[in-house]
Amino acid sequence: MKMSRSFKMAGALLIAAMLVVSGCGNNKENNTAGGNASGGAATDSKAIAKIKERGKLLVGVKYDTRLFGLKDPATGKVDGFDVDISKAIAKKILGDENAIELKEVTSKTRIPMLNNGEIDMVVATMTITEERKKEVDFSDVYFQAGQSLLVKKGSPITGLESVTKDTKILGSKGATSIKNIKEKVPGVTVLEFDNYQDAFSALKAGQGDALTTDDAILYGMASQDPGFEVVGKPFTDEPYGIAVQKGNTDVVQAINDTLAELKSNGEYDAIYTKWIGKAPAQ
Ligand code: GLU
Repeated sequence: MKMSRSFKMAGALLIAAMLVVSGCGNNKENNTAGGNASGGAATDSKAIAKIKERGKLLVGVKYDTRLFGLKDPATGKVDGFDVDISKAIAKKILGDENAIELKEVTSKTRIPMLNNGEIDMVVATMTITEERKKEVDFSDVYFQAGQSLLVKKGSPITGLESVTKDTKILGSKGATSIKNIKEKVPGVTVLEFDNYQDAFSALKAGQGDALTTDDAILYGMASQDPGFEVVGKPFTDEPYGIAVQKGNTDVVQAINDTLAELKSNGEYDAIYTKWIGKAPAQ
């Protein structure tokens, strides 16, 4: 009798426990639904909160792109337009432009590294495209470039119009430039390299006739070696945006606020002139 009563009690407790568990489940669902109803604000604030908790901003920049993100092998320092913009964002979010850790990305690795959480944002000569918008969210445009060609001085190639099917073009994997040139000159041979340093070395070694990417990047290469020049007019629009993981709207907001402030207080023009050598076109 005593035993059976305690069995009954255990059964009642079990049922009660099950009700609590299922009740919790319901509450959880309700909470999630509530979170979504508030426009994803709960998720959004987490991205900035995580950066603040960590105390530093993890930014993917190029390490081989003069003027935008270039690592000095002697000092280990990475400098460029993209680096200065990144520092301003770190200052905005964390109050300290040095609360930042730069990580090397290439045109091919930047989206995977962003989406697997290795970096908070990509500030790396990255064009805003509809295709990329399916995978990441972008800030406002922070730099306007256009695709062009770099050749050895004296080359018969003087612009896009001299590129034919028989021209050997060099480029970097994952860049918009590869797709664009294939569209402009159907059937053209394109050799794709892992990064721009390798592509430029290949051009210098005579492995191709022209290197194609954004004019601003090509001018950086030409300034390194007087034997090479940028030819023709830019033949695409490459508006650069800063990429974040999809849904991190609070981070996009912080970036856009930073860009607006830099533009209104003159710092954007100063950074632009420092790296590009002239004021931005209005
Ligand atoms: N802006 C172009 C792109 O996003 C070319 C430069 C680069 O490869 O980063 O693909």
